[in-house]
Amino acid sequence: MNYDVIIIGAGPGGIFSAYELKKQRPELRVAVFEAGHELSRRKCPIDGKKIKSCISCKCCSIMSGFGGAGAFSDGKYNITNDFGGTLHAYIGKEQALELMEYVDEINMSHGGAGTKLYSTAGTKLKKECITHDLHLLDASVRHLGTDINYVVLENLYTELKEKVDFFFDTPVDTVKRVGNAYEVVCAARAYTCKKCIVSVGRSGSKWMERVCSELRIPTSSTRVDIGVRVELPAEVFSHLTDELYESKIVYRTPKYGDKVRTFCMNPKGAVVNENTNGIITVNGHSYEDPARQTGNTNFALLVAKHFSEPFRDSNGYGESIARLSNMLGGGVIVQRFGDLIRGQRSTAKRIEESFVTPTLNATPGDLSLVLPKRILDGIIEMIYALDKIAPGTANDDTLLYGVEVKFYNMEVQVNGDLESCYDGLYVIGDGSGITHSLSHASASGVHVARKIAEKY
Ligand SMILES: Cc1cc2nc3c(=O)[nH]c(=O)nc-3n(C[C@H](O)[C@H](O)[C@H](O)COP(=O)(O)OP(=O)(O)OC[C@H]3O[C@@H](n4cnc5c(N)ncnc54)[C@H](O)[C@@H]3O)c2cc1C
Repeated sequence: MNYDVIIIGAGPGGIFSAYELKKQRPELRVAVFEAGHELSRRKCPIDGKKIKSCISCKCCSIMSGFGGAGAFSDGKYNITNDFGGTLHAYIGKEQALELMEYVDEINMSHGGAGTKLYSTAGTKLKKECITHDLHLLDASVRHLGTDINYVVLENLYTELKEKVDFFFDTPVDTVKRVGNAYEVVCAARAYTCKKCIVSVGRSGSKWMERVCSELRIPTSSTRVDIGVRVELPAEVFSHLTDELYESKIVYRTPKYGDKVRTFCMNPKGAVVNENTNGIITVNGHSYEDPARQTGNTNFALLVAKHFSEPFRDSNGYGESIARLSNMLGGGVIVQRFGDLIRGQRSTAKRIEESFVTPTLNATPGDLSLVLPKRILDGIIEMIYALDKIAPGTANDDTLLYGVEVKFYNMEVQVNGDLESCYDGLYVIGDGSGITHSLSHASASGVHVARKIAEKY
């Protein structure tokens, strides 16, 4: 055997598996294979001057490399079972929260100390929300910010690289079962291991589908979230963001009974492009450092679509909608709320004259040509509902960027140890379809590491 344990993917799931394995069993030989670059070499070429929009790099530095999709994220660690994944359904609610708190401690001891922990406990905003049929979900949120999140990753890498073999720019092609062990096949050569942890995240979703099909591991896929990213003056949401930083608010639309929710709130942040399998969608982040903050707050409004038989390709549905916006706008489309309501496209002139200055260079256009009516109606209803707790949300100049899509990886069938139907083959993090957040993905890594350490 080349290694006792091979981890595929160096996102939060992979990093925390490696961290905990070496903590529990320092003698184990552990390797991490990562398709992207090491942290210091990760750089998105968009500079806003020469390169203004996504040029679809072979390996996206936003999504891949040490730190995974979370490396340039806002670093919001939500300590909750209410959203961010369903890890609790596999390992129990108490255990899941304990692991998320443990991850938070590690982040604090690796450069995160001093960052703020927000909480919904005891907030009066909950009552205000419910008065307008808006439901504020419970959570504690550690906000590292993009800058401190990077420092934490740097410190974790400095520590881990002395103990673990990292193979960067080394995508794994396939995983084969050989007797009771595994062969991890890369372009140049194959490596063997006794236990294999697969943590390939969202960018590895297509790869994961192929590997599951080759190994005949059962999977299921039924959900995709589609919507827009809203950008408005930071003052509109400041009473919520100052107290809670991130508020997850759910609303059931009267018209269709669909649930619309706020997602990934970035006070004084910036809207960014996201490239998933070559499709340009939108996301957001913000910095802890006041010097890098903007005057705007952004957040997503998402409508969850659950499909039933015979349709199985929920991600394909989301991709088609995002492709439509890419087709019409060459990437992400931006529209003023007032233009959307009046049934007119936004133009460069209207955006320029707007009181809200966009933080992302997107193409002014018409989102009603992209989003299905049911989804768009839900978003408009939610904007009017939010206007009651945050007056100004439904202003004409509020910017809507589309499309924001939350692709859910197909759910891989695993047991309470997050082990697949094969002994010693574990599937964790967002790639498993079980987690959708930094905290849940990291916690799943700690969980498998402890299970492997127990079994060795
Ligand atoms: C812009 C942005 C902002 C976000 N903000 C937040 C936030 O504030 N809070 C939050 O909770 N979540 C946030 N998220 C989501 C969060 O980043 C993910 O939930 C989290 O990173 C999942 O961790 P993971 O380890 O499962 O997967 P990932 O972080 O996606 O890591 C998987 C890694 O596997 C590698 N890989 C894939 N296939 C292969 C292969 N075949 N061989 C080798 N390596 C492979 C990838 O290159 C990648 O580095 C954000 C995501 C984005 C894109």
